[in-house]
Amino acid sequence: MPRGKVMEEFFTKAKAMEFPRRIIAGHAALESVPGMCREFQLDGPALVITGPTTRTVAGQLVEDMLVDAAYDVDSIDVEEASTETVEMVKALVREVDAEFLVGVGGGSKIDVAKLAAFQSGCPFISVPTSAAHDGIASPRASIRCADSCDNISFTASVPMGVVADTSILIKSPWRQLAAGCADVISNITAVMDWELAHRLKHEEYSTSAATLSKMVATVIVENASHIKPTLEESAWIMIKPVLVSGVSMSIAGTSRPASGSEHMFSHALDRIAPGNALHGEQCGVGAILMMALHGGDWERIREALRTIGCPTSAKGLNVTKDQLIEAMTTAHTIRDRYTILGESGITERAAERIATMTKVI
Ligand SMILES: [Zn+2]
Repeated sequence: MPRGKVMEEFFTKAKAMEFPRRIIAGHAALESVPGMCREFQLDGPALVITGPTTRTVAGQLVEDMLVDAAYDVDSIDVEEASTETVEMVKALVREVDAEFLVGVGGGSKIDVAKLAAFQSGCPFISVPTSAAHDGIASPRASIRCADSCDNISFTASVPMGVVADTSILIKSPWRQLAAGCADVISNITAVMDWELAHRLKHEEYSTSAATLSKMVATVIVENASHIKPTLEESAWIMIKPVLVSGVSMSIAGTSRPASGSEHMFSHALDRIAPGNALHGEQCGVGAILMMALHGGDWERIREALRTIGCPTSAKGLNVTKDQLIEAMTTAHTIRDRYTILGESGITERAAERIATMTKVI
């Protein structure tokens, strides 16, 4: 039997990757929403999912533009990203017989639209008005479950299109855009953890996804001094890495390229001190700590975060020293994902030493 034939019989890998079909980012990009919907041959009715604040920022404008483009449009204001909200949106999708969904807002509005679209079998367009994390174009949605206080990451739709208007993004609170940058910077330790799991546990690894994820983190780190509040160009510099970070997860088919021990630390903090800081802010501080555990250049990460205006300490995250240490020593229990924290985690003394060395406490 020819050698090639033998190889063919042993090769069984197959994988599906889903990406947005079109991403439009930049000044006044919002105007392209109706054209994008027509280009995708979406006829409507359309359902716009927005929030009370984001409606005034962009939601109403998107609705009016769709109406002007002869679309039959309904809209709903949602508050928090919970399973009840998703059910409410799905009921409205059925009621108005929506063909497609447009999510206009920050992370929670996009997450609701993303999951409701997936579970209703409708395409969806993502119109972010802020970018506090890299989930804008990812296939995951973080939703609070009705029967627990925990946020669960659900499989959801990758948006068919993304419209990121920098003139709108730059008007969102700076803290949110800075947190989005920190979330992307934290890819550096996420990929190191992934490489470790690949070496030690033979976990499946994608060089393409890891390279892309590291590259966008480097773009943010190297441009940190150009990322400044009120400067629209800052939104331009950060939005592409934020979007591409999501794409790296689509390539990998897992959140691995953008979520490692620093994300487990962030999720541990969500349990210990819920709502004290933003996801990206926690991941940024987590990246400083985990980079120190990896024996890498944590000062470079700390400096980039500091330059952008992200927290770099427990105080900056509004948590006590004890809460921070607890998050570090319990982070390994968050999920079954092999990282620098190992299977049994790190000791309190080790955590304290690393946190002190990196000036986090
Ligand atoms: Zn994240």
